[in-house]
Amino acid sequence: MTQIQNYIAGQLVSPQQGQYLDNVNPATGKVYSQVPDSQPEDVAAAYEAAKAAFPLWSSLSIQERSQYLEKIANRITERLDELALAESRDNGKPVWLAKKVDIPRAADNFRYFSHAITQFHNESFDMGQQGFNYTLRRPIGVAGLISPWNLPLYLFTWKIAPALAAGNTCVAKPSEVTPMTAFLLSEICVEIGLPAGVLNIVHGTGPNVGEPIVQHPDIPMISFTGSTRVGQRIAEVAAPMFKKVSLEMGGKNANLVFADADYDHAVKTSVRAAFTNQGQICLCGSRIFVQREIYDQFVRDFVAEVKNLKVGDPELADSKVGAIVSKAQFEKDLSYVEVAKSEGGKIEIGGKAATLEGRCSGGYFIEPTVITGLDAYCRVNQEEIFGPIVTIQPFETDEQALEYANSTPYGLSCTLFTQNLQRAHRLAAEIEAGIVWVNNWMVRDLRTPFGGVKQSGIGREGGFEALRFFTEPKNVFIQL
Ligand code: NAD
Repeated sequence: MTQIQNYIAGQLVSPQQGQYLDNVNPATGKVYSQVPDSQPEDVAAAYEAAKAAFPLWSSLSIQERSQYLEKIANRITERLDELALAESRDNGKPVWLAKKVDIPRAADNFRYFSHAITQFHNESFDMGQQGFNYTLRRPIGVAGLISPWNLPLYLFTWKIAPALAAGNTCVAKPSEVTPMTAFLLSEICVEIGLPAGVLNIVHGTGPNVGEPIVQHPDIPMISFTGSTRVGQRIAEVAAPMFKKVSLEMGGKNANLVFADADYDHAVKTSVRAAFTNQGQICLCGSRIFVQREIYDQFVRDFVAEVKNLKVGDPELADSKVGAIVSKAQFEKDLSYVEVAKSEGGKIEIGGKAATLEGRCSGGYFIEPTVITGLDAYCRVNQEEIFGPIVTIQPFETDEQALEYANSTPYGLSCTLFTQNLQRAHRLAAEIEAGIVWVNNWMVRDLRTPFGGVKQSGIGREGGFEALRFFTEPKNVFIQL
């Protein structure tokens, strides 16, 4: 059985106390590898390695750093099949999805930032006869990076790539639930000869590894993606130390379908937005609001589409819906079906575990679930479930659609389906979310700022925003 190793000071090493956690494949319910149960002393060693590597790495030319990132990107692409299978075995998602989306996007993260850093520039301002000033943006030091289980390599590299491109060194922690692709990334870093200590990967739990990273007095910046609950804890720990923090947290995204939408496209895209990755994408549209005139037909057609989503072994090409990431998440998801029933919801389809034959008989599968008959303010529509469970409700007017969209404590993304351009622009400006898609979903442009408002996050990732986060501005005024 594979024993995953930490990556510290350029070496693949065991955790100092020699303890490991079981890593379960959620499609089978069986342990398939072991992950280090690292402790604060492993974080301390990773920090020392990152600190020692900082002078060299930060003083490399931009072109040299860029070339290292490019090499990592190329190696990810070369190892695509292996990474996609590893991600599926950790996470339960269909292999084809990891191969089509997650892993290519992880390579893109490195490739994009290898180019972006060559275009990143400092501002200067002419003050006329008085003089001029300019802003230096230099790397800061050791970055602490913490990521979740749902898009494991994609979100992990989304932080690592800009932190490294900007000239920082890193102590990075993937989710203990999905560690394998991070381990393969550390192998790739060894293969391409990334200088020792530039990137350090410490595996383990939130309390034993994540918290010591955040508490470390000499790690001045923390970039976190995960739940709002853990984000709150990180904010609490980091604030008295005045650390820079970027928090990408939960979502409860609305999907607004107007009567004038391109109907077939709206139905199909809404199904994809609801159930891709078993609904375990922070950007999934789990609250669907449909204009009254087309509501009944939409529910019928949406449910008919959902019937075609085959729940199956993630390693088979025709499985559209894979396993839920863990037993705990599986139980949490199903508990919300009970909450929905108690709140008066009607289960239109799904609402229970899916039982598979053969190798996946012990896996954590849930039938894609559609619930109607709830109001926008009930628990099921206010709390993040993060599974294959969505609700559909009618709305009457633009104002009501906007009210519903903005009615949760979250504000990550929203999708609108309408052919009315004025409505699209007006609502896009008023929706409380960091990202609004009009007539599409999950389209990504790496140059744009990514993130949420309200309890979905503070700070922005992506593009130059990420490079700004990972550098410290210093203004220099010159008197003429
Ligand atoms: P989580 O918050 O439980 O864990 C995220 C990471 O934080 C893990 O690596 C975990 O070990 C670590 N952690 C736990 N406790 C910690 C602590 N006290 N200090 C430091 N680190 C700690 O989240 P999850 O269950 O892995 O992921 C699902 C959540 O992530 C959902 O809420 C989802 O919406 C969110 N998410 C958000 C985005 C976004 O871009 N906004 C993207 C993906 C996922």
